[in-house]
Amino acid sequence: MKAIEITHNGGPDVLIYTDVPTPELKPGTVRVKLESIGVNYMDVYTRIGLYGDNVPIIPGGEGAGIVTEFASDVNDFNIGDSVAYTGVSSSYAEEVVAPADQLVKLPSGISTNIGAATMLQGTTAHYLLYSTFPVKDDDTILVHAGAGGVGLLMIQIARMIGCKIITTVSNKEKAQLAKNAGADHIILYTETDFLTEVQSITNGQGVQVAYDSVGLTTYEKSLASLAPRGYLVLFGQSSGVVPPISPLILNKGSNFLTRPALGHYLKNREELNWRTGDLFEWIKKDRLSIRIHEKIPLKDARKAHEDLESRKTSGKLLLIP
Ligand code: NDP
Repeated sequence: MKAIEITHNGGPDVLIYTDVPTPELKPGTVRVKLESIGVNYMDVYTRIGLYGDNVPIIPGGEGAGIVTEFASDVNDFNIGDSVAYTGVSSSYAEEVVAPADQLVKLPSGISTNIGAATMLQGTTAHYLLYSTFPVKDDDTILVHAGAGGVGLLMIQIARMIGCKIITTVSNKEKAQLAKNAGADHIILYTETDFLTEVQSITNGQGVQVAYDSVGLTTYEKSLASLAPRGYLVLFGQSSGVVPPISPLILNKGSNFLTRPALGHYLKNREELNWRTGDLFEWIKKDRLSIRIHEKIPLKDARKAHEDLESRKTSGKLLLIP
């Protein structure tokens, strides 16, 4: 089959479209012919070797498609089912073999493009707002990169919860998208100091939680934006890795710091069904809109990474095999 393979870590040019062996079906697994593959910032980290993945490797961890085969011990799926998943490696390919317990059947009315666009970023937005720091309607929250894939979903879900939402974006076009998604205050953090703005918006009180996926360039001021006993939820590092910090830094506001990962919040079928069930229900009821930035042929995965890293995208990038 065709796939994108990385034989050494590096820039987007190491993403090579090539022939690879078709993966073998094992007990408990399902073969999925992919129709749509989600691109995530995590794939950049795989490419550059941030998490120490061994090469050669096929990047990607999210997709949707049609069941074409399943192991004899799998009972819940049929040939022709439309399914989606997150957390299955080697997804930049024409096919994956996925553990059955990580697949969800797509409800009628949800296309494989929407399925692939929702699984990783949608479940992330869900766990951050409902589990890592369960947001209440009288909270004020700060969400960085509010026009990004995760950001746009977080704003829309936070709007449903009813809290006050402050977000940061890098330009006016992204500001409009964040506004349309439901943000109350939008800060152009490339032009103004977001800490000063947050203090002004909250009358010096600070926010109950700062959701920071930008990392290196924002984490210090995110921490300083917190109300006493507020939470810094550091869930990514789009601008670079945060260096080691002393616990004493939290003493200033008796604050909490967590560095969550999606896998720990999809720890069983119940959690997967809860989060994806909510997401697909909201999409079907037009309460949650999935913005697909662009669909790019799988062979051009390099362009997808270039666009994501140069901050050109707003919403989801999909690769189409
Ligand atoms: P995004 O669509 O949010 O893209 C990244 C955004 O980060 C950019 O669009 C840009 O927005 C902002 N950014 C700020 N500084 C930089 C920089 N120097 N270089 C590049 N981008 C920058 O990506 P995703 O929605 O896929 O992911 C967002 C983050 O969430 C990533 O860090 C990812 O790793 C993390 N994540 C973590 C998960 C977890 O469970 N821990 C799960 C899923 C995602 P702007 O132009 O407005 O500044």
